[in-house]
Amino acid sequence: MSTDTRQPISIRMHDADNVAIIANDGGLPPGAVLPGGLVLVDRIPQGHKVALVDLPRGAAVLRYNVPIGYALKDIPAGSWVHERLLEMPAARGLDGLPIATVKPPAQGPLQGYTFEGYRNADGSVGTRNILAITTTVQCVAGVVDFAVKRIKAELLPKFPNVDDVVGLEHSYGCGVAIDAPDAIIPIRTLRNISLNPNFGGEVMVVSLGCEKLQPERLLPPGSIPILDRRDVPSGGEVQVEPPLDVVCLQSENHVGFMSMIDSIMQAAVPHLERLDARRRETVPASELVVGVQCGGSDAFSGVTANPAVGFCTDLLVRAGASVMFSETTEVRDGIAQLTSRASTPEVAQAMIREMAWYDAYLHKGMVDRSANTTPGNKKGGLSNIVEKAMGSIVKSGSAPISGVLAPGEKLNQKGLIYAATPASDFICGTLQLAAGMNLHVFTTGRGTPYGLAECPVIKVATRSDLARRWHDLMDINAGRIADGEASIADVGWEMFHLMLDVASGRKKTWAEHWKLHNALVLFNPAPVT
Ligand code: CA
Repeated sequence: MSTDTRQPISIRMHDADNVAIIANDGGLPPGAVLPGGLVLVDRIPQGHKVALVDLPRGAAVLRYNVPIGYALKDIPAGSWVHERLLEMPAARGLDGLPIATVKPPAQGPLQGYTFEGYRNADGSVGTRNILAITTTVQCVAGVVDFAVKRIKAELLPKFPNVDDVVGLEHSYGCGVAIDAPDAIIPIRTLRNISLNPNFGGEVMVVSLGCEKLQPERLLPPGSIPILDRRDVPSGGEVQVEPPLDVVCLQSENHVGFMSMIDSIMQAAVPHLERLDARRRETVPASELVVGVQCGGSDAFSGVTANPAVGFCTDLLVRAGASVMFSETTEVRDGIAQLTSRASTPEVAQAMIREMAWYDAYLHKGMVDRSANTTPGNKKGGLSNIVEKAMGSIVKSGSAPISGVLAPGEKLNQKGLIYAATPASDFICGTLQLAAGMNLHVFTTGRGTPYGLAECPVIKVATRSDLARRWHDLMDINAGRIADGEASIADVGWEMFHLMLDVASGRKKTWAEHWKLHNALVLFNPAPVT
């Protein structure tokens, strides 16, 4: 491989940067000579930073042409620049930001790309054909899990066009302050997940009976798209909203556990019949709703995988698709970049509103955005949240930002969207599902086996070493960019074509192959009782 330790490789992200990262597998020893002639003073682990010049105490340490910290003491050229040598900059205030000042050069539309998807009655398109069983409360989770196992074993073989059956299990529904203003977030999240395009509009609910989140509160009349049209004698037709399909475990009709299981299985049959009758059809790439995310990040995330995702994001936006980037604490330090890229002042103001809400949320818990970074991030070379954010934000590519979603809201527009969510992998993925995501892209440097039952997840490794060791978990190796074997554009295009194949069901992701399914995790900023 070209990351042979005998050929030192360092990567600088911007001409103005005074640090670079060491790309070689295993890092480099003291005495190693970089191509420009710089001799290393310390052993520097892979992904960690080397000082390219003498950095006097107090000097700004620049990466991505942004101060990621200030030297706490003199750092000679060739030294290892790690987090204990840096003071983190304060967060940029939310006043006086540049508003919609940057007009990225218009990139021509990308036409002619299609995939095979399931067209839904509401116009959305699924990439999978899944029966989802909505639950109102955690109390029913065990029963639903039991029923889902029997549906998979006994009913699914009779419906070969249905991909899977999934119980939408969660920890909400009771024991919570359901009238608190912020309770709207978990409630609309659950509602909108039930309506995800991959579920074909076939909503069925299992309720306990006594819970605070009653089925009618979760899915009030009018919330489910009307599928059923009936002829009326006058010669026209009328839309009839069918009653919400609910199995209530506390119903007096149930005598014994098996009666509950039988009810759930019987309720599933008509939904499975309708889903099974559907066929994939050719649809334009503009029907993709892609959520991008990173987790287990290292210093290569912002060098290889995330820039390739950013390139692919630009391709998707040019093709007319929707792309959501999220993870508020990982973009907070780049707020000025984002507000300047907003397509309108209203979009910039909506971003500031979401960031201010999140700042206040963290403040209430007596922390700030620096609570984001993990021991693994630091071991991987990311000194602090500023450096992590600069590498995270590049997933958003270069297109104008044309919309903002508050947590749990449903997306109803195309283009590049900032979906405000926590950076927690599971909460972010859950909220992107609620927004209507039908395809997920997840980059990782340290490695995570993340996957969702509700939507395919394409995983991208930032380093070739990870891609080799996790060869049956990683779908794309962006480490080839650091190895000098592929360009950012090469990997971006590879990702774009893989997305169309996965969306069409022609290819399965490794997470789908192994059925690796993380739990839905709701964002509930409201009190529990
Ligand atoms: Ca994340």
